Amino acid sequence: MALPKQHKTGSKARQRRSQIFLKTKSFVICSQCKQKRLSHSACASCGTYRGRQVIEIKQPKEKKGKK
Ligand SMILES: [Zn+2]
Repeated sequence: MALPKQHKTGSKARQRRSQIFLKTKSFVICSQCKQKRLSHSACASCGTYRGRQVIEIKQPKEKKGKK
């Protein structure tokens, strides 16, 4: 099994771990519905990609009472 060649100080370990975090997703504005969408993917609200309908958006069913 591989062993670490040198001892990493607590400071160095914390410096390395400071880069471990979730990055914010980059959004672009949809040209069809002006909603935010992820770049290089179809719009979740209108289902178009590059001005073309690629996925069908189902209308949410009306909720009947509380569960
Ligand atoms: Zn859209």
